[in-house]
Amino acid sequence: MSRPIQALIHVDALRHNLARARQSAPDARVWAVVKANAYGHGIERVYEGLRGADGFALLDLAEATALRALGWRGPILLLEGVFEQRDLELCSRLDLWHVVHCSEQIDMLAVHKTHVPHRVFLKLNSGMNRLGFTPAQFRAAWTRLNALPQVDEISLMTHFSDADGPVGVARQLVAFNAATQDLPGERSLSNSAAVLRHMGPQAAAGLRSDWIRPGVVLYGASPDYPEHSAADWALQPVMTLRSRVVGVQQLAAGDSVGYGSTFVAPRPMRIGVVACGYADGYLRASPGTVERGTPVLVDGVRTRTVGRVSMDLLTVDLTPVPTAGMGAEVTLWGRASNGAQLSIDEVAAAGGSIGYELMCALATRVPVTLV
Ligand SMILES: *Cc1c(COP(=O)(O)O)cnc(C)c1O
Repeated sequence: MSRPIQALIHVDALRHNLARARQSAPDARVWAVVKANAYGHGIERVYEGLRGADGFALLDLAEATALRALGWRGPILLLEGVFEQRDLELCSRLDLWHVVHCSEQIDMLAVHKTHVPHRVFLKLNSGMNRLGFTPAQFRAAWTRLNALPQVDEISLMTHFSDADGPVGVARQLVAFNAATQDLPGERSLSNSAAVLRHMGPQAAAGLRSDWIRPGVVLYGASPDYPEHSAADWALQPVMTLRSRVVGVQQLAAGDSVGYGSTFVAPRPMRIGVVACGYADGYLRASPGTVERGTPVLVDGVRTRTVGRVSMDLLTVDLTPVPTAGMGAEVTLWGRASNGAQLSIDEVAAAGGSIGYELMCALATRVPVTLV
């Protein structure tokens, strides 16, 4: 028998979450953001569940090529645009739309030989100070692009730094509206947090756009945990990580567990040894969080990890599940067979991280099944 760890991808949950994003922005078209190999889920695995989107947004040219190979004929947007001159040839060949965020990318377009002009998304740096033209540079960039025969329609976009928190989007929205007013073209503004928090019926910010760009919500995690859980947002988890108990130890009071002996049993207790470690993508919790442990489901019952997570194994307290022994089902996140759920956001938070990072980190050695 092979090592019992496996990841499950719930295809129906992808469809549900896509519909949930649309519900908050019913007039907008949806870029399904599938960068980082669909946030660790695998582009080819999520394709079926997300093909109801209006387009796919990503940044790796190999991933764009993979999507075309899957048969996707609709729009594909390169979120960071091209990285070097010859990338533009692939854009022409595969009909990829691309972001233009710096003058070097305009220089490359200006010398690109193509029969078909490109659809581009001109990016404004509205305050995040990562990619994009500043408001002062924006109009000149638009004018230069607009004069190029290589360029077809120009759409306008920006990215929010604080859509998930108390700062919100108002200031960046003002900057975007000021920099883009009376420029023609479609607009794209909102990531997951902006879609859920600033576009729903309860939204005050007046965010409207032609294209929304949800990422993490499609995979059923919350962009603003712990303020809201995925369940609060009516999202369904797409990824489940499950394994089994492959060893059981009966500890006496004072016995320790694992590397560094960081956990010492306060009383006699039974622990399960689980076939999952940091080489599978599970977080090796930081020293501060190791004492509290990370929540985990054994036979669908909530308990916690004890001691350090090692490369291939971790250990869990079996006290709340006295019937569980060798072979017991362990759900690291997602859905247990008995229907119980453990949110990836909660697991990530216990290790000082976010759901995004955990799903992206799923290791290639973990076999994945679509269900
Ligand atoms: C990753 C990304 C998104 C999606 O972000 P989520 O928080 O996952 O919704 C949207 N727009 C851009 C430019 C991105 O890089």
